[in-house]
Amino acid sequence: MESKKSKRREGQPLKDHIVEFCREHGADLVGFAPVERWDEYGEVPPEFRPRFLFPEARTVIVMGIEIPLPIVETTPSVLHMELYNTANRKLDALAYDLTRHLNRMGYPSFFFGRDVYANLKALREKTLAAFSHVMAAKYAGLGTVGVSHCLLTPEFGPRVRLVSVFTGAVLPPDPMVEGDLCIKCELCALCCPQQCLTMRGDRVIGDYDKNACLDMAEELTRRRSYPCGVCIKVCPVGKDRLLYKRRGIRKKYLREREALSADPDDPDYRSWNHIRSYGLATGEGEKGGKETQ
Ligand code: SF4
Ligand code: SF4
Repeated sequence: MESKKSKRREGQPLKDHIVEFCREHGADLVGFAPVERWDEYGEVPPEFRPRFLFPEARTVIVMGIEIPLPIVETTPSVLHMELYNTANRKLDALAYDLTRHLNRMGYPSFFFGRDVYANLKALREKTLAAFSHVMAAKYAGLGTVGVSHCLLTPEFGPRVRLVSVFTGAVLPPDPMVEGDLCIKCELCALCCPQQCLTMRGDRVIGDYDKNACLDMAEELTRRRSYPCGVCIKVCPVGKDRLLYKRRGIRKKYLREREALSADPDDPDYRSWNHIRSYGLATGEGEKGGKETQ
């Protein structure tokens, strides 16, 4: 055990190099999880763990990029859809570049793309992705899982997209976040347009009606203004709220649907509505599905 630990410590210069590489290529967050954490915590079924998927894996490097809050606030909108697609392309490119960089350095590596499902029908048939970036990010010390099943990070709350690179390099792990970042404020559950989330008394992570969330995702995909992301928009966790001066607006989020059905021109929501009303044919984009990570 001791020799394993000292081997990991010896990997610090390589870890520093990888962090610099990831930052230079656009990652906002980078975390390192030793593959043993999946076995230690036992929360993920064995065939979904890194060593089952890539036996050479010793460390999983998780990268995250910010999804800027003011754009998420306009959901559902073409602007939000374009951000989502851009973030996904960027993440896949990041993971691909890091994988090839590590391979060139002699460390066998493999990446798992940020979504890896062909369409929403596939998610109805199999509700789990072949690998969870959310759990990888938790084990890499980037955050904790909230009521909404999203990863909450200190920096951006749930407004972050993730990708993972498995590598044969033995690298120093990052400490996991202690406690829960989710404050169980219930806002994600109250604002979900499909009532997909139900709070639990015995644990932080809520019950989640995946089929109801998929109904919304299908509707928004048809309207070309996916994903929904309301649960991501309203979560109060994240320092990004300070930057954008978006503290204490719980009531604004809670009354949005009612206010807009009473007055589509309500001044509190005028800018979001303006953005929503362009780029789509008339009548589209009025509703707010979780895409998995
Ligand atoms: S909105 Fe509140 S309850 Fe939901 S994940 Fe965020 S902090 Fe937790
Ligand atoms: S993505 Fe939308 S529909 Fe799905 S859980 Fe979040 S708020 Fe509800």
